[in-house]
Amino acid sequence: MTNWRAERLGQLPPYLFVEIDRKKKEAIAAGKDVINLGIGDPDSPTPEFIVERMDKEIQVSANHRYPHGAGHPDFLDASVAFFDRRFGVKLNRASEIAAVIGSKEGIGHLPLAVVNPGETVLIPDPGYPVYTSATIFAGAIPHLMALRADNAWLPDLDAIPSDVAANAKLMFLNYPNNPTGAVADLAFFEKAVAFARKHDILIAHDAAYSEVYFEVTPPSILQVDGAADYAVEFHSLSKTFNMTGWRIGFAAGNATAIAALKAVKDNLDSGPFDAIQLAATEAISNYDHVSVRAMIDLYLERREIVTAALNECAITVEKPAASFYVWSKCPIGYTSMDFVSKVLDEVGVVMIPGNGFGNCGEGYFRIALTVNADRMREAMERVKTVSW
Ligand SMILES: *Cc1c(COP(=O)(O)O)cnc(C)c1O
Repeated sequence: MTNWRAERLGQLPPYLFVEIDRKKKEAIAAGKDVINLGIGDPDSPTPEFIVERMDKEIQVSANHRYPHGAGHPDFLDASVAFFDRRFGVKLNRASEIAAVIGSKEGIGHLPLAVVNPGETVLIPDPGYPVYTSATIFAGAIPHLMALRADNAWLPDLDAIPSDVAANAKLMFLNYPNNPTGAVADLAFFEKAVAFARKHDILIAHDAAYSEVYFEVTPPSILQVDGAADYAVEFHSLSKTFNMTGWRIGFAAGNATAIAALKAVKDNLDSGPFDAIQLAATEAISNYDHVSVRAMIDLYLERREIVTAALNECAITVEKPAASFYVWSKCPIGYTSMDFVSKVLDEVGVVMIPGNGFGNCGEGYFRIALTVNADRMREAMERVKTVSW
């Protein structure tokens, strides 16, 4: 029988969470009370004022037609205003911004839009797996850039071999970073843009966590002078407003790259539902709403619970400056998979093995701060009983 599966799917990196998934399902089937600190999906509901606007817009029949594919004018206006107020960056609403069906969709389609087969894409390791999948789907070559603790989880751009840089067309960056929680400062973005200019590379900066931060306010790469010649930035409403299921975000920056992305999208999808774009307009116009502050306070409380407990276990961990993840070294002598399996087997707490984000994540694990403080405390009490 024919196997209806294209070869390119065989080129995707192996899915390392299979084993953890299997163990988790087994434990649940055995009646264990499993606490899932694996998935990064906000547990709080979408704020009321956004849901109310959606209630209203869904009644409007004009919103039931094909959407404004490149972006509803109101959503684009609100996103331009957000960029000005939050980052002091003035975007051209006609050419420098496009709505996407969640930033994952935009990121996934970008290599098809800007990279030719055989060209190289620079990708952070550890990193969000979509960068690599999208690169492979476009017939391009992934080149991984190591992120390490001793370089503040930033890639060492000087370590990229010159032949690799010469063949590179695109570089993905992601700050605040998933999985490490690191924030990049403007000085790093300046270096990155200078590198992009020197080698004629487009930077795609994934800013999904730009509003989920604690002590430091994350900048936009588009704050760098001249960045719009070499960068696009992806923004998402998913994490800021607990809207992961709504699928809405936007891409901003370089006009030719935005036009190319729109050309791919015109051929493959028709953009986000207009009612969702209008509810998102309400959200982004109120990015500093009390409900966003309240959400950050929840993550902050949980961050303290987790980091204090890990320190008690003699696991040295740094508090993340942003995002809702704690990224930590495994106890000495454990691989990521050994440690995560042991914790799941012995106390029913699910964490993600760091090597699931790339080889440079080996020896680390990730905890998502997306269960309530009581459950978080319970999880960490259990972890403290594990001996290693
Ligand atoms: C959650 C996440 C996104 C995706 O967000 P959507 O807008 O929901 O598609 C993108 N990048 C990173 C690093 C994420 O963790």
